[in-house]
Amino acid sequence: MPETAGSTSTVGKAGPTDYVGRFAPSPTGPLHFGSLVAAVASYLDARTCNGRWLLRIENIDPPREAPGAMAEIIGALEDYGFQWDGAITYQADNEDRHRELIAALRERRLAYPCNCSRSSLVDAQVGESGPIYPGTCRDGCDKGDHAIRMLTHDEPISFTDELQGSYVQRVESAVGDFVIRRKDGLVAYQLAVVVDDFDQGVTHVVRGLDLIDSTPRQIHLQRCLGMPEPRYKHTPLVLAGDGQKLSKSTGAKGIPRERIPPVLVHALRALWQDPPPDLATADLDDVWKWAFENWQSGRLVGRKQTFSPDDAIAKHKNGLS
Ligand code: GLU
Repeated sequence: MPETAGSTSTVGKAGPTDYVGRFAPSPTGPLHFGSLVAAVASYLDARTCNGRWLLRIENIDPPREAPGAMAEIIGALEDYGFQWDGAITYQADNEDRHRELIAALRERRLAYPCNCSRSSLVDAQVGESGPIYPGTCRDGCDKGDHAIRMLTHDEPISFTDELQGSYVQRVESAVGDFVIRRKDGLVAYQLAVVVDDFDQGVTHVVRGLDLIDSTPRQIHLQRCLGMPEPRYKHTPLVLAGDGQKLSKSTGAKGIPRERIPPVLVHALRALWQDPPPDLATADLDDVWKWAFENWQSGRLVGRKQTFSPDDAIAKHKNGLS
């Protein structure tokens, strides 16, 4: 049903615009509340602009994939009533193209092989995105297994995030030359996401704030590959009760697959929307209808964090009893 469901959607009656949005989960665990919040924001932003909304499964890292996670994520999105346009795409299917572009970057000397071991980098300075690569292999490295790194420069790369405002990073000093193909041969996220967004005509990237510091690296790649820069909206991070970001790596639970309307209403509240209290007991279609009619992305401007689902669920239960 959902593969073509977008075409039967009642939303976006005014006809298509140039807006193409997407949700691009990695199948490393079930869809947790933080991912749901990002998906809802991206979906509502696209639909309320009469845009298209795509679902792309970013399955390029098999060692980090959790068994069954792909089906679990797609099933959860279906149960929550998301309707994407066209068929689901799988990032691994675009691997030849990723590798072609990595080869082209190497040919142009914009990327180079690096066989530094993790242990040789332990003394590297640590920046906001992890260890800063000191450029050890820029002038060549020995043969053997190697990663491919993208050459960076220290001119500031800036963009205006439509929710978070202006963001500037000097990639060379903040991150260093970054990996676009890993030592184990797998294509890295930074490269794959840029290529796929371009190939799919994505114009608007709405995703969690944890990825904002990757954006300058992605813009650097777009510029080197001659690809236009999409518009960006980075949505607030959902924190667990202990103040930590919800993430698959810290074992965040999958969202419930039953009694869905109240959970979706929590997601709307977590996005600073103001649904009426009785919406939690309405049908799923009515929750979406309310959301399409009332979505105000402006309410997210400057918001960096939002509340934990446990707090929200507790609040909701109290409200009902
Ligand atoms: N696949 C990434 C993730 O699940 C998100 C990619 C993106 O939205 O740019 O964290």
